[in-house]
Amino acid sequence: MDNLYDLIILGSGPAGVSAAIYAERYNLKSIMVGELFGGTVMYPHKITNFTSYPEISGIELINNMKKHIDSMNYKVIEDQIVKVEKKDNIFNVYLRNGLILNGKNILIALGTFRRKLNAKGEDKFVGKGVHYCAICDAVFYKNKDVVVVGSGDGASMAVLLLASTSRKVYQIIRGEVLKTAPDTVEKLDKLTNYVLINNNEISEIAGDNFVNKIVLKEEFEGLKEIDINGVFIEIGGAPNSAIINDLNVEIDNQGYMQVDNFLRTNIEGVWAAGDITNIHGDFKQIINACSQGAVAAHDVYKRLK
Ligand SMILES: Cc1cc2nc3c(=O)[nH]c(=O)nc-3n(C[C@H](O)[C@H](O)[C@H](O)COP(=O)(O)OP(=O)(O)OC[C@H]3O[C@@H](n4cnc5c(N)ncnc54)[C@H](O)[C@@H]3O)c2cc1C
Repeated sequence: MDNLYDLIILGSGPAGVSAAIYAERYNLKSIMVGELFGGTVMYPHKITNFTSYPEISGIELINNMKKHIDSMNYKVIEDQIVKVEKKDNIFNVYLRNGLILNGKNILIALGTFRRKLNAKGEDKFVGKGVHYCAICDAVFYKNKDVVVVGSGDGASMAVLLLASTSRKVYQIIRGEVLKTAPDTVEKLDKLTNYVLINNNEISEIAGDNFVNKIVLKEEFEGLKEIDINGVFIEIGGAPNSAIINDLNVEIDNQGYMQVDNFLRTNIEGVWAAGDITNIHGDFKQIINACSQGAVAAHDVYKRLK
């Protein structure tokens, strides 16, 4: 078969890019396809936990990843993968533009998508006051009142970003305390325009053409409703595994791919790396994704040898 790749990398986030770097080192005939180069790294406005960068923006890190890949003349296709199948031990990867890539092995590095809250009014106001990416949309809420829903690092970073320009930032969490790293909690504690609402939930997002209030499940300081201009839903992600369902890769009860220490799945020729795997539980970070991509590419090389 002409143009049969040793390895097709699905996804061009940190896991995919690191795998590509190692695949190139090992002279594998490989190609990477991803819809959005850099993936979820576009979300953090400041990254302070990636080794050798005391502080870097997500966009800057993506630019560096791009420079690295370009310096190797590595082939990247920017397109959506619509289907993946295995026939006669060859993987066929179908792209939206009609192209079909054929590979002996694949690495699934498709990451996650943002979770929805499923509150009343959420769908109606998407883009009209309901957002899932503070780094992308905080700019529209200068001197306005906003609410961030979520308790993890992503949510609290969204609060910090919004608090730098918005008038007031509420953070609504279902539990008693934040599930945020202690250094970020210290920064939140210093904010003067920030209100934490714990043990509560949004039951409705309401407005006319645009969001103008939220309705709470429980009263907060005697109020059941809060006037608000924007709602940022930051409740984490779920694995982007729908397009590879046909491969029957083993997943856990939340849909994350089960892999071993070498990032192999239960299917011969299929590896998975990064946020889409369950190998490090909910510790989903760029450094982990990079490491997993590298380990997987190294293992593909060893197998092919
Ligand atoms: C708000 C926020 C803040 C964060 N802050 C930090 C931080 O400070 N430090 C840190 O270390 N980590 C941070 N993270 C986590 C970090 O971004 C992820 O752990 C990392 O990006 C995972 O890399 P990945 O390659 O596994 O997946 P992703 O980065 O999600 O990349 C997935 C790739 O798959 C592609 N893809 C998916 N579906 C398809 C399809 N059907 N067709 C084609 N391509 C597809 C995407 O376009 C993308 O290229 C943060 C995450 C969020 C959401």
